[in-house]
Amino acid sequence: MRQIFTLDSVDSTNAQAKRYALAGMGECMVIAREQTAGRGRLSRGWASARDEGLWASLLLRPRQVRAQQAGGAVFVAALSLCEALAPFGKARIKWPNDVVMGGKKLCGMLAEAGFHGQMCDWIVLGFGVNLLQAEFDKALPHATSLLLQTGARLAPEKLAALFLERFEPWYERWQQDGLAPVLEGVRPLSATLGQSVRIEGREGVALDLREDGALVWQVDGKTEAVLAGDVSVRGLDGYV
Ligand code: ADP
Repeated sequence: MRQIFTLDSVDSTNAQAKRYALAGMGECMVIAREQTAGRGRLSRGWASARDEGLWASLLLRPRQVRAQQAGGAVFVAALSLCEALAPFGKARIKWPNDVVMGGKKLCGMLAEAGFHGQMCDWIVLGFGVNLLQAEFDKALPHATSLLLQTGARLAPEKLAALFLERFEPWYERWQQDGLAPVLEGVRPLSATLGQSVRIEGREGVALDLREDGALVWQVDGKTEAVLAGDVSVRGLDGYV
């Protein structure tokens, strides 16, 4: 059983899990009732109001995962989250790191990792799932919550338990068999594949996920692959 640390308030669950990683701690999950400095990618802020969502980070110490493969953990978590939410509503995966519902952002994920030579030493995988917000600040037009989408009032700790039930077997599978079986689960849940998208100012059509998780797309008459990294993907008519 994964150890869970539930904190009242923290700067960011990713920052806390990284402190645990650097202190040599083993695998665990950090959950906070509120984050005072929640982060997205590229130091963007993440709104994490008290008790309104699941603000959590996993500290993973995968066996035999190479440094370049660390990013695969995001797909493992996104797939697990969609499965955990399935009884409530249709959540889908927006490549590379969001889970969306009704075309809006329900969850953002942020993976960070430390390496030992070629191998992955630790991965901190943070995710914020909006659950109980009845409205969002006008500055977040793409945000949504499970309550707004489905009317369901799901408590953060309940979602944490449902999530871990799905995550642990997928995480084991990823370590044993690599990303391919995980991507087989992700493809039918993708909100990105088949869509017209804009990436770094260029417009094209998302075609497939490569076996390393890169997005294969048709752009300027060619087929190219884009690695997750720090790119933002937008639909041509909206967020997804
Ligand atoms: P991107 O959407 O480009 O992948 P990130 O994954 O870095 O962006 O997420 C950070 C962005 O998410 C912020 O700049 C903000 O626009 C938005 N955001 C912040 N808090 C929330 C929230 N609770 N729910 C949905 N979106 C949020």
